[in-house]
Amino acid sequence: MRTIEELTRPNIRRLKPYSSARDEYKGKSATVFLDANENPYHVPYNRYPDPLQEEVKCRLSTVKGVPPAGIFLGNGSDEGIDLVYRAFCVPGVDNVVAIDPTYGMYEVCADINDVEYRKVRLDARYRFRAADMLAAADEHTKAMFLCSPNNPTGNCLDRTETETLLRSFDGLVIVDEAYIDFAPEPSLTSRLPEFPNLIVLQTFSKAWGCAGIRLGMSFASPEIVAVLNRIKYPYNVNRLTQQEALRMLDNPSVVRQWVDALLAERARVTEAFRALACCLEVYPSDANFFLARVTDADGIYARLVEQGIIVRNRSRIALCGGCLRITVGTRDENDALLRALSDEK
Ligand SMILES: *Cc1c(COP(=O)(O)O)cnc(C)c1O
Repeated sequence: MRTIEELTRPNIRRLKPYSSARDEYKGKSATVFLDANENPYHVPYNRYPDPLQEEVKCRLSTVKGVPPAGIFLGNGSDEGIDLVYRAFCVPGVDNVVAIDPTYGMYEVCADINDVEYRKVRLDARYRFRAADMLAAADEHTKAMFLCSPNNPTGNCLDRTETETLLRSFDGLVIVDEAYIDFAPEPSLTSRLPEFPNLIVLQTFSKAWGCAGIRLGMSFASPEIVAVLNRIKYPYNVNRLTQQEALRMLDNPSVVRQWVDALLAERARVTEAFRALACCLEVYPSDANFFLARVTDADGIYARLVEQGIIVRNRSRIALCGGCLRITVGTRDENDALLRALSDEK
């Protein structure tokens, strides 16, 4: 493998990061803070938040089994994705390789950063092969993006192929595990010590029920995390978000209860969905959504909208012709969907 230093953009290697007041003084014992030009009134929102979110990382470390130095926190996973490009990919020169179809932000961030984005088509059962990814790479390939369970297809990627890729590719492999809490298999985070080129993305937006607070996690070697920390905005995770994350981390068992309820609902809804006249196929799902091929995706989507029910029309995505992506909701929400679809042919 190329070293992290070799993979890092030369300008980022040379960068002298911004040093905030909170970076320069960190002691807990002080009581008079006259260093950051804050307003002394309106406690606690008058104070800048912890730039490195140490309390949140300490708590997360226990829940996730990853040391705090191996955790990067950002404004949603999207920040973690964008920073991979900004830290490692030279615009107009480097490229990344990703499975296709998958989550749209990898390509959008590539385009924003002027980095070539190479797509490697999954097979008809939405599986990938490490060999195909490697064949698409060249000496300017800095990173590869996998997503497991994948969005919009819903399935987990093959673990053996993923490990082969991690062992054979000499750049970074990002595995987006936004839906891992719903999957039957464990996270790759426990394998981080084995794979110095692995970045695992997770988020508070799905199983944790916190899409509104914008908190994404990147788990990686301390060396990779240190590079991301150098280029992030100084106060990228605000105080309200850190506060709510700490509250959630105090009671992680509620997340398990939500996941169990949603998995039971997923089984019920997919079974009922398969029996609908308009359903051609429901693809197996390891996530809190499922992909379904229907008789008339555009028409059904539009008629659902008229009834105030919004699903995602994925029918123009590669390998997803005729498909809708449907999130598992509450029992009542799912029943409303099934009722609205019962007259469709
Ligand atoms: C929803 C989702 C995310 C979450 O993004 P946030 O910015 O953390 O809300 C990340 N990756 C995938 C594949 C997703 O579907």
